[in-house]
Amino acid sequence: MIQTDLNVDVLVIGGCTAGSYFAGQMAKQGYKVLVVDKSSEPELGQRYTVIHCGKEHFEHFGIPEPKEGDPDYIEQFDLSIIRSALNNFPKNTRSTILVLRRVLLMKRLADYARNSGAEIRYSTSFTSHIYNEAGQLAGAVLTGPDGEYHVNARLTVDASGIPAVVRTGLPDSYGVETFTTGPRDQFYVVLHYAKLKHPEKDKIEVVTTWPYYKIWLAPQHTADGCLVGVGANLSTEYAERVLKRFEALGYLPEHELEHI
Ligand SMILES: Cc1cc2nc3c(=O)[nH]c(=O)nc-3n(C[C@H](O)[C@H](O)[C@H](O)COP(=O)(O)OP(=O)(O)OC[C@H]3O[C@@H](n4cnc5c(N)ncnc54)[C@H](O)[C@@H]3O)c2cc1C
Repeated sequence: MIQTDLNVDVLVIGGCTAGSYFAGQMAKQGYKVLVVDKSSEPELGQRYTVIHCGKEHFEHFGIPEPKEGDPDYIEQFDLSIIRSALNNFPKNTRSTILVLRRVLLMKRLADYARNSGAEIRYSTSFTSHIYNEAGQLAGAVLTGPDGEYHVNARLTVDASGIPAVVRTGLPDSYGVETFTTGPRDQFYVVLHYAKLKHPEKDKIEVVTTWPYYKIWLAPQHTADGCLVGVGANLSTEYAERVLKRFEALGYLPEHELEHI
């Protein structure tokens, strides 16, 4: 079923971090803004559960800061340690990091967009572009729970993350890069719980990072455990191999890995 056209100033495809924030900014300036996301509202941001954010960014970007007792707030820490490739020169870094529930942080950002005047429609996907007679981008065809409809927009914004559905769907002649990102450009993150063999001497109380290997250790909520994270391009299998090689260097306390 094709529904009636809708006219907006700004159509934002993707309503997670980038989309919600940008929509809020535009709506505050008086533009009529529609955000759509293919996820349902409760599913938005469920790709992973816990997110770390620098506390100062909330004030900087004018978003209400999560405080103890808020549903998205878990905890915060101030100190982390960065170590060199050869495990030397531990450097203490002090800045407050908030540990937050991601789905509820996305709700906070969606509330920011709505309170600024933007409309958000979930379970609604970008289907194709609409062009005007001059061949310029003039909106999009969307598919929502009640079928397909057209949205005319002065500006269409691609906030769809890695798929970049708006940008990659443009014709090559449009003058915008239409490449798709592949495994070389993407960051695959693997998280493990680790059980410490000697928790009495090795207890992990501070986040420690080895940026050279993109590996980090973080406290867990049990005294004999910690989290081990690794990120690498190419694939999750490659990230696991990087972690295995790192473990062989002996920089980590004695432990046993458990997959999350
Ligand atoms: C395991 C993991 C841990 C991370 N931890 C952190 C962290 O601790 N701190 C941090 O700052 N960053 C972290 N990141 C990075 C962070 O998640 C990304 O930088 C951020 O999500 C990018 O936001 P975005 O809005 O650009 O895209 P996304 O979050 O990918 O959002 C894109 C949205 O577009 C929607 N969409 C896609 N296609 C369509 C379509 N056709 N039609 C309509 N909607 C569509 C999707 O449903 C999605 O909601 C982590 C990433 C991963 C994978």
